[in-house]
Amino acid sequence: MLNAIVVGAGPAGALLACLLARRGVPVTLLERQTDFSREFRGEVLMPSGIAALHEAGLRQPLDALPNLTIRTVEIFRGERRVVAIPVDGLDPPPRVVPQPAMLEMIVAEAANSPGFKLERGVTVRDLIYEKDRVAGVHADTLEGPRDYRGDFVIACDGRASAIRKRAALPQDRIMQAFDVVWGRVPGHFLDGRTARAYIGNGHLLIIYPSPEGHMQIGWVIDKGTFGDIKKIGADGWIRALAPHVSSDLRNFLAADKTGPAHPFLLDVVCDRLREWTVPGLLLIGDAAHPMSPVAAQGINLALRDAVVAANRLGRALILHADEAMLDFAARNIQAERWPEIVKIQDMQQVGPRFVASNSILSRIVVSAPMIAFAKLFLGGFLARRFDPFLNGVTRVVMEQ
Ligand SMILES: Cc1cc2nc3c(=O)[nH]c(=O)nc-3n(C[C@H](O)[C@H](O)[C@H](O)COP(=O)(O)OP(=O)(O)OC[C@H]3O[C@@H](n4cnc5c(N)ncnc54)[C@H](O)[C@@H]3O)c2cc1C
Repeated sequence: MLNAIVVGAGPAGALLACLLARRGVPVTLLERQTDFSREFRGEVLMPSGIAALHEAGLRQPLDALPNLTIRTVEIFRGERRVVAIPVDGLDPPPRVVPQPAMLEMIVAEAANSPGFKLERGVTVRDLIYEKDRVAGVHADTLEGPRDYRGDFVIACDGRASAIRKRAALPQDRIMQAFDVVWGRVPGHFLDGRTARAYIGNGHLLIIYPSPEGHMQIGWVIDKGTFGDIKKIGADGWIRALAPHVSSDLRNFLAADKTGPAHPFLLDVVCDRLREWTVPGLLLIGDAAHPMSPVAAQGINLALRDAVVAANRLGRALILHADEAMLDFAARNIQAERWPEIVKIQDMQQVGPRFVASNSILSRIVVSAPMIAFAKLFLGGFLARRFDPFLNGVTRVVMEQ
């Protein structure tokens, strides 16, 4: 039986390993962390990502996780609410799910398949080549260095992928002008089901509730200015935000005497490899195409990559395909996922800087009368225009 090595147990790697193992493929999943909660991870699932988990047969365990459905997204300019967009009518509505719990759920499901093995605390350092073909990985484990050999390696090791660097694959980078500082404030603001975005004065701030009893804040800053925020500390951060938000949020933030916990910088990167595969190796998820944070797409696309990869590689591995067929399956995975990744990355570029700016055009486009006009006359067009952020671009179904 041909076996697979999956590197990285984020959404892409955990789901892919689970689906391959369910098909009867022996899979070893290597994860550098010993505990999924050791890194702050995104937690907003869009309908497209929820649908991928449903396709994977994980509807029930997903519903059993701590989760929170967002009912309304409000957009504010300072004190003024520009628009409130109800989102609970979407089927399914966006859902906030702590990623560590989701990953533990997926690997627990995978563990029901006899061929699945998860090894934590294993950091992959390099690729093993045999006759110009990837045949495994060199890793550091808690017990020391070790080699893992497999018939096919799938790199799901995220935006700082070591495997991407080792494979030296060419990439197209889309320059980003901003970074995001994330922080958490204990307690729930508003009804605990409303997300807000504050725009204007060159700022963009997003705040949404988490099922773990805190509010998550993301503040878009100019690239490279995190050092200034670190210097002013959590208190200074709140003082700097205050002029850009409404008084109810200002009061909520002021009531928390400790300030946002663990301000964390997301160095925004958006690019895609031109080739996701070399003989014996495929990269998916952020390792192949790190996403901009606009419209919370990364987890969702990673899950969708995993379903497509499981369909095509799973079949080839079970059928004991020869090397050429395995590599052909890998190329087809990129071909199937490419249109969605390109479309969504392109859509993400029209965003934060424009809506946050105080330019006359931005003020006109993002104003209450213009939004009311757009809803009345352009509702259908806008829904179609933004639908890829909700439902993706291509049809992703799990093959039997
Ligand atoms: C602060 C923040 C907030 C975000 N918010 C959202 C959101 O709300 N919604 C959304 O859709 N997306 C969000 N994202 C993006 C999203 O988290 C990623 O796009 C998504 O997790 C990508 O999944 P992945 O499986 O490809 O990679 P990752 O989730 O990055 O997983 C990679 C895994 O590989 C492991 N790993 C890395 N290197 C090695 C190695 N050498 N050896 C072994 N293991 C390794 C890592 O520990 C990790 O577990 C956010 C990201 C950040 C950082």
